[in-house]
Amino acid sequence: MQRERRLLIATTNPHKVEELRDLLGDIPYTLVSLANLHVAQEVEETGVTFAENAILKATEYAALTGELALADDSGLEIDALGGEPGVYSARWAGANVSYEERFRILLARLSSVPTEQRTARYRCVIAVAAPAPRGLLGLAEGTLEGRIADAPAGSGGFGYDPIFYVPEQARTVGQMSLAEKQRISHRARAAARAHDLLLRLAKEDA
Ligand code: IMP
Repeated sequence: MQRERRLLIATTNPHKVEELRDLLGDIPYTLVSLANLHVAQEVEETGVTFAENAILKATEYAALTGELALADDSGLEIDALGGEPGVYSARWAGANVSYEERFRILLARLSSVPTEQRTARYRCVIAVAAPAPRGLLGLAEGTLEGRIADAPAGSGGFGYDPIFYVPEQARTVGQMSLAEKQRISHRARAAARAHDLLLRLAKEDA
């Protein structure tokens, strides 16, 4: 009988767990979350790039649990702010600040920036790592180009989605259903690449 292959979705963000479970649903691994394994520990994001933080989270959660682990580090890069908040997207406004407060502060900072200069992108880097000695097995990246809207619209998704406007879709990510977001998002693009890597790993491991 074939033994069960497991993959830990190593993120404490429940929205990312939901999106990643949906995006990776058909891989030959049983997906488990940190909550399923009763892991409450947070890995400190000390890296200065998305890749560094994704690698830190995947390798540390793999070491902590003994499982193959997939971690996502992602954020919003606003060109008029020199790429901020970038890797600090979750933390720049301080701890315990709601998603809405954060995007309201950003909208205020951009209030005098005209539409054509409000370009921005979401970036997501996914790392897959096994417990030592194997360590990091692969990295996958995806981006979604758009611009910061003048005002929030929609309540779908999470984080900055209500203010992230996608010109080709003529609406914000907050105005999209989960299925619509999953067709175009930075996380979906990174996950499609990670998906190929995981299929390869499963084959090698067969
Ligand atoms: P981290 O990767 O856990 O450090 O945090 C990522 C942060 O970037 C989130 O808390 C959000 O603020 C933002 N972010 C990343 N991906 C998305 C997304 O798909 N929609 C909205 N905000 C996002």
